[in-house]
Amino acid sequence: MRALALFSGGLDSVLAMKIVKDQGLEVVAINIQTGFGSTIDRREHMQNMCDQIGVELKILDLRTEFLDEVLFDPKYGYGKNFNPCIDCHGFMFRYTGQLLEKYDASFMISGEVLGQRPMSQNKDALQNVKNLSEVDDLIVRPLCAKLMPITKPEELGWINRDKLLDISGRSRSRQLELVKEIGLKDFEPPAGGCLLTEIQFSNKLRDFVTNETLEIEDINTLKAGRHLRLPDGAKLIIGRNQEDNENLKKTTSLKYDRGRILEANGPFCLLQKDASPQDKKLAGDIIVTYGRTDFEQEYIIEFEEFQITGKKLDSKEELQKYFV
Ligand code: SF4
Repeated sequence: MRALALFSGGLDSVLAMKIVKDQGLEVVAINIQTGFGSTIDRREHMQNMCDQIGVELKILDLRTEFLDEVLFDPKYGYGKNFNPCIDCHGFMFRYTGQLLEKYDASFMISGEVLGQRPMSQNKDALQNVKNLSEVDDLIVRPLCAKLMPITKPEELGWINRDKLLDISGRSRSRQLELVKEIGLKDFEPPAGGCLLTEIQFSNKLRDFVTNETLEIEDINTLKAGRHLRLPDGAKLIIGRNQEDNENLKKTTSLKYDRGRILEANGPFCLLQKDASPQDKKLAGDIIVTYGRTDFEQEYIIEFEEFQITGKKLDSKEELQKYFV
């Protein structure tokens, strides 16, 4: 008997897999990439967790499907920010359900805990996730199964309901007891989870989709740099540090011209193509202001197909109104 697990890398999903594994079932961890994970790479952590409990890790790239099917029209709406968690979980189960046959697995599990998140993990929400998953009663939540109606895998004896748990709420005390029992090490995932739950990222995304059509290659540009919307509507993105600069350089988006100050150290920048002459002029001054530049001197900023000039502004304060 084999189960596929929705695996986020977080502690709850590790424990859910371990509980099922301890019943003698095989478990395959499925991590789904929506494109909105932070820039911090969690693969090493996820592999470490799977190695410690002896399950295989598979990473599934569903960025396109997530954009097309979930992000902009979630049936159950958004959480506090741009996070359509109920629809997202349903989507993940739906796609994982399509892999059951491929992996010769019989059902799915997840680390959801009843009442842990008021909006997306209450009883109704978990039922809605199940409905969206379009699979026939094949979802078991090992951490809170005893608080939920019995499922087909339990009824048919594929998994022993008596050995599943009844954890609810936000406290992690039961989970931490289990960590001790298992001897799990380094279980806290690296900082930075789903960016859709963060207010600043959600604001950038909202601004972007109000003005342009979001494509896969735009997502990474939203994760790096200072974002400014100039008066005539052009977007300017300025690297804040070396890491931002490197990430912005990697963009494959065709929506931007890429530029940098000549003859001074300064940030790598992306300026939306077809910016008006006024926006270009302002962009020049802003880019120079964020460089290691002197007042009064005019600098050239070289883009791939054109150059602009700029002078350092007296204060960055006046730029606040352009920040997204
Ligand atoms: S936090 Fe992000 S990845 Fe997790 S369910 Fe919500 S939208 Fe999906």
